[in-house]
Amino acid sequence: MDKIILSEMDSNFKNEIASQPGAEHFKQCFTCGTCTASCPVAEVHDDYDPRKIIRMSILGMKEEVLSSDVLWMCSRCYTCYALCPQGVKFTDVLGILRDMAIKQGYAPKEQDMQARELDKFVQDLRCQLIDQKLHPNENNKKKINDIINKELNKKWK
Ligand code: SF4
Ligand code: SF4
Repeated sequence: MDKIILSEMDSNFKNEIASQPGAEHFKQCFTCGTCTASCPVAEVHDDYDPRKIIRMSILGMKEEVLSSDVLWMCSRCYTCYALCPQGVKFTDVLGILRDMAIKQGYAPKEQDMQARELDKFVQDLRCQLIDQKLHPNENNKKKINDIINKELNKKWK
């Protein structure tokens, strides 16, 4: 990351977030890292780090946060929400950041719905893969391949 110049940060960004229902305790994050350590997305993707998103938001890095692709990687599993010792409710904060990104023109308005549909697809695919592992079947294997290929060819606006 480039050097952070505090005078170029948006010092009101943290207040803008904290004023939304669900983000009241957001500024109480003390960077313990429990969210990142327990996050299933962070486990498989090096660029995804909930603690870093909170830190950047508190520092006022509004443009970097709201325009970042990582905002759309959270699968909303609520693990971080349940474990945070400061009651930050990161899953809700993430939802607020996504809304802000759309309302303020950093992301297309369809993106939140598309991310939710993809989460549903991934859960369905996971169930089908488990079923296939438990009961291998050529027809199911082909069906799973077709579903994956169809999803791969879809583009987000
Ligand atoms: S678990 Fe809570 S307090 Fe700890 S870094 Fe994450 S948001 Fe901050
Ligand atoms: S809700 Fe999102 S950030 Fe929190 S643990 Fe789940 S995937 Fe990670």
